[in-house]
Amino acid sequence: MPAKINPEVQNFCLLAATPRKSIDEIEQAYMGCRIVAKTCMGTNHALFHRRAFDVCIVDEASQITLPTALGPLLLARKFVLVGDHYQLPPLVQNRAALEGGLDVSLFRQLSEEHPEAVATLAKQYRMCEEIMSLSNTLIYDGQLQCGNDEVARRTLAIGDMAGLQDFRSDASTVCGSYCWLADVLAPSRKVVYANTDPIGAPAFESLTSGKNITNAVEATLSAHMVLRLLRLGVPGRNIGVITLYRSQLALIRHVFKTAGIGAEVEIDSADRFQGRDKECIILSMVRSNEQGVVGELLRDWRRVNVAFTRAKSKLVVLGSRRTLVNNELLARFLGLVDERGWVVDLPRTAGEGHGFGCGSQSTSLPESTPSPTKRSGVMRLVNSSPRKIVPGGTPTRILQPSASAGNRSPAKGGDTTRRGLKAPGKIIKGQSTTMRKGMVGALKEQLAMEIFEDLTADDFSPTVKMGNISG
Ligand SMILES: [Zn+2]
Repeated sequence: MPAKINPEVQNFCLLAATPRKSIDEIEQAYMGCRIVAKTCMGTNHALFHRRAFDVCIVDEASQITLPTALGPLLLARKFVLVGDHYQLPPLVQNRAALEGGLDVSLFRQLSEEHPEAVATLAKQYRMCEEIMSLSNTLIYDGQLQCGNDEVARRTLAIGDMAGLQDFRSDASTVCGSYCWLADVLAPSRKVVYANTDPIGAPAFESLTSGKNITNAVEATLSAHMVLRLLRLGVPGRNIGVITLYRSQLALIRHVFKTAGIGAEVEIDSADRFQGRDKECIILSMVRSNEQGVVGELLRDWRRVNVAFTRAKSKLVVLGSRRTLVNNELLARFLGLVDERGWVVDLPRTAGEGHGFGCGSQSTSLPESTPSPTKRSGVMRLVNSSPRKIVPGGTPTRILQPSASAGNRSPAKGGDTTRRGLKAPGKIIKGQSTTMRKGMVGALKEQLAMEIFEDLTADDFSPTVKMGNISG
């Protein structure tokens, strides 16, 4: 089925992309090709009943459950599992299965039981040196290296450098002598931590329906940055926006649509970005509150690791220092960016101006559901009542932050016992939000795309604590 195959690799798909006219042709294709690529779940295909292979290579093996991995392994004399169990583990929803340890991948089990069989691939060819240094310091204990100088020096290509200057002039009424946007987007800044604290209360997270956490200011600021990057000639396909919160994803998608940002700018969860990258990533951390509650999703260092390692030449992390500093890993991150001078304290007025045109566009949005963040034209843009974007009538489901070992820092050699991997699931009741009929059609498709996020945990209640997660 060529339609399901990325056009860039269709040329290599002899079996799937070429129609066969006779049984003989099928026979020849099935039995004659030397290399077969398939998903782990696809080993029911007739071909695999008749052939065995010399080697089976399983990619992203740390993300699949043991039973899923076994299928393909049985077809080969030798196997190689490729993965990284410092990234996200298999997603397991069933609580009993989780307590039984199903979220421990075969990859992780074998790496821990047979360290001599592990070959560490320390060279990476994705991230420039500065971006790599984050996870290298925080997670990998300095083991990572850039594959070559070209990778190490990777810089975001901006078609129109003079355009950065323009920002300063056309935004002068807002920014005065200092333009945060030009500062944050300067290609020489490979890693930027943009601190939202100076914006004050408007930059706080909001809780919609008492459950869905969003941060309207971070959504707006992301849109500002993306619009500017596009205007500077960065292709939309090279830009990605990551947030760990499903409701924030929906809000950012809505804000971007309103701002006229095309779908080529990908907005997704860290889970969905695993295994992939973009030249430039904007990461919205969302959590910002007076109590300094960081929440379960951000406590999972593996998820944060994935989010920090998706950008090739520029990473902008948007978040509240006052809140994030309460997490051990993120506090170390803040220490690191302080040390390197990678911090930009956003001005109080950061959400306004820059010829963004939000004020006028906002009039096309449904003007309901007032929000505490409503303050200006820009805020109106993002004040698009995320309540309407989240699925209504979601059945009760079990949500489980898959990172049972959330706080275990591998760089410090944490526990590796199976016992330490378990965490009780939490049950969260669904909501019954009434969706406006006009929006249902448009949202259906979006929601279908978000099934995966549906499966990932969202921090609904800042007061719920996991049993074995400390600090
Ligand atoms: Zn400015």
